[in-house]
Amino acid sequence: MTGWSAPTRETLFVLNDVLGVTRSEIPGYDMLDEDTVQAVVEGMGRFCTEVLAPLNPVADAQGCTRHGDGSVTTPDGFRQAYAQLIESGWNTLAADARYGGQGMPHVLGTVFEEYMNSACPGFMMYPGIVNGATSTIISAGSDHLKDTYVPKVISGEWLATMALTEGHAGTDLGLMRTKADPRGDGSYAITGEKIFISGGEHDLTENIVHLVLARLPDAPAGSRGISLFLAPKVLPDGTRNALGCAAIEHKMGLNGSATCVMTFDGATGWLLGEPNAGLAAMFIMMNAARLGVGVQGLANAEHAYQRASAYASERKQGRAMGQRPDPAAAADSLLVHPDVRRLLLDVRAFAEGFRALVLWTAMQIDAAHHGDEEADALVSFLTPVIKAFGTDQGFASAVAMQQVFGGHGYVKEWGVEQIVRDARIGMIYEGANGVQALDLAGRKLAKDGGKVAMRFAAMVEADLADAPGWLATPMRAALADSTAAAQAMLAQAASDPDALGAGSYAFMELIGLVSVGWMWAKIVQAVDGRDDGFAQAKRVVARHFAERRLPDSMALRCRVEAGAANLMAMPADMFLREA
Ligand SMILES: Cc1cc2nc3c(=O)[nH]c(=O)nc-3n(C[C@H](O)[C@H](O)[C@H](O)COP(=O)(O)OP(=O)(O)OC[C@H]3O[C@@H](n4cnc5c(N)ncnc54)[C@H](O)[C@@H]3O)c2cc1C
Repeated sequence: MTGWSAPTRETLFVLNDVLGVTRSEIPGYDMLDEDTVQAVVEGMGRFCTEVLAPLNPVADAQGCTRHGDGSVTTPDGFRQAYAQLIESGWNTLAADARYGGQGMPHVLGTVFEEYMNSACPGFMMYPGIVNGATSTIISAGSDHLKDTYVPKVISGEWLATMALTEGHAGTDLGLMRTKADPRGDGSYAITGEKIFISGGEHDLTENIVHLVLARLPDAPAGSRGISLFLAPKVLPDGTRNALGCAAIEHKMGLNGSATCVMTFDGATGWLLGEPNAGLAAMFIMMNAARLGVGVQGLANAEHAYQRASAYASERKQGRAMGQRPDPAAAADSLLVHPDVRRLLLDVRAFAEGFRALVLWTAMQIDAAHHGDEEADALVSFLTPVIKAFGTDQGFASAVAMQQVFGGHGYVKEWGVEQIVRDARIGMIYEGANGVQALDLAGRKLAKDGGKVAMRFAAMVEADLADAPGWLATPMRAALADSTAAAQAMLAQAASDPDALGAGSYAFMELIGLVSVGWMWAKIVQAVDGRDDGFAQAKRVVARHFAERRLPDSMALRCRVEAGAANLMAMPADMFLREA
């Protein structure tokens, strides 16, 4: 018993009944019938439940070890589990068939991401970057680089990293200093230090392919002077490249993932894409990674919910205010208490709605891969929302589920405090959530005259036509709040340069709320006419979201409308406490 098992029934319900993947006309989906989808989902679920989940507490307790020669050992069991992953082929399921992948739809790969992230997020960090890394090499690399590196990374024989961050350059990558000097033979000598590099060094694969941002000698200052390079740990001639792990970070959570300080000491690398266009090339990778991090939020919430609901049904404290399930017992289960139910239903309402949202978005990614520009625009609009709202709610869900355990949630024994610690990073990396919100408000909202935002609102509105009044009414109010908030923010921005920054976070939360509510409308529609326990539970959880989460839209709208004036009123030196 690991405290979590893959929620395959929930996944299959979303894929088949809510989103209709087997009826979809997205190119490539004709390979999906209900039997295939079930076999794949259950197979992935078994792998994560049986192989990865038992490693989670071990990874947390042991962490990674760096040795004197710069090598890094991952926690016990990771090497064997990684070998089993490669053997199973689940890692190549949705990968590009031109380079050895199985070419199945991304929507199924997204299910696997959720399960791996619930089972053992520290392990997931190693293969988790592969999709973004290979997409970047495929779109920006020369044929030689593609042929040399992509098949081996897709197969899992090698792993990859994204090496962006430097000590003084995190969000503001324009400040980075790592340099790349041309050698005259098509290669570059890369010199500098990167920090916080996930999977920078480990013992899972012989080779690690680093995608590194660096500056060419004549590069313009700032973000327009950054180029992207591919620098492998082991060079094609079999010699070690001049790069290595100088240290690993000791962190709050995600201990199974080696977060490395990496030094590049004239390391050999090759340019990916055009000179000085590295950030654009890297965005391919970052967008894939951002969606993946949003899925981490879902995975954290689902894992914590499973533990807390099991605990609440066993733990007996206090008596029911109303009817007592067992009048002779000294105490009732925690589930008789409305406030415990509130905590559990809040999390379930987020997790089930958000699962539908990420899988719906994964379907749009599949459509976009086949040239559907409208789908691509919707993915781009929702990416910062899924990343930021998903990880905020994932962390909040873990904390709420910890609360269900009382003091037993604060001690290690029950495994829920690990989820709290592991979930926290999602809000920070891959672009901190405040920056995601700015991306939404500053770039995505006004893009093409607001066309995508309006299309999004129209799609939500269309699905409300068939929704019951108890859901449609608060959803329409939330949608109206989001439209009013957007208009207020854009109007303020015409005269106040700080308006977008001041309103963006609440606006991102508003769109997150509306997006999850939209999925609840689809879910309720999918169980319409059914009266079994599963369908009844869906309606109860949907109603909880409608009654207790959607009203937040009013407060969020007020926050946006408040504007920037008061936030910016205090002089910077007054933020410091006087001695
Ligand atoms: C465990 C872990 C794993 C990581 N893995 C990787 C990896 O594999 N590769 C990699 O390259 N990096 C990685 N990172 C780095 C991570 O992406 C950065 O920490 C993150 O981008 C934020 O940068 P920073 O820490 O320098 O914070 P800062 O940039 O200093 O930001 C501090 C705070 O200020 C806010 N802020 C900054 N600028 C703005 C702005 N313009 N507007 C509004 N708010 C702003 C931010 O939102 C944030 O809340 C990892 C970090 C950790 C902790």
